[in-house]
Amino acid sequence: MRTIGLLGGMSWESSAHYYRLLNEGVRDRLGGLHSARVVMHSVDFAELESAMRADDWETVADHMVRAARSVEAGGGECLLIGTNTGHKVADRIADAIAIPVIHLIDVIADEALRLGLDRVGLLGTSYTMEQSFYRDRLATHGLRTVVPDQAGREEVNRIIFEELVRGVFRAESRSRLAEIVDEMQLGGVILGCTELELLLDDDDVACHLLPSTRLHVQAGLEWALH
Ligand code: GLU
Repeated sequence: MRTIGLLGGMSWESSAHYYRLLNEGVRDRLGGLHSARVVMHSVDFAELESAMRADDWETVADHMVRAARSVEAGGGECLLIGTNTGHKVADRIADAIAIPVIHLIDVIADEALRLGLDRVGLLGTSYTMEQSFYRDRLATHGLRTVVPDQAGREEVNRIIFEELVRGVFRAESRSRLAEIVDEMQLGGVILGCTELELLLDDDDVACHLLPSTRLHVQAGLEWALH
């Protein structure tokens, strides 16, 4: 088994989920007392979140590059960048390290294509839904991206930053997210924020959900155990 590197802390609520899923995945595949070989560097999210809000992506990239290098120095043999939004600077990170980055947006695109979709909905932070990095990367796989209307985007972003990254899980927010997904009337919607699947799952909606953390973990496990 190879050692999976994880850039965590964005937020730690989802990193804890990554860690659990990685270990459960190894246990399911190898049995007994097997568990995942993982090196994680977990950042202080407040520092990165304030840089994002200030539109200072250089500082975001600097913090993430330092974390990625420490994962590599600690023995990580690949890197999972445990945030969708952070993939805005994924190329900068990949250029700064020698180990491969398992790119979350590519993993999601593969799943969308496997499901036979050519158009996918995208829920995530405002950065993810409104900037071009995510939809451009999906487009390289031939996928078109649809996002909620402005009120929907504001609500999804609010739920992420005021609730989910703080460990707050509310039934009314689950219902609101489900409504936003169902109003899009698509075959599949990406949960393109690593905390969203902590609140919403397939039973809540009428279409396929593509949960970014779960899919990213599966790709990491395939790489580590191939
Ligand atoms: N975890 C979130 C994501 O996947 C949002 C936190 C962040 O801004 O990195 O995008």
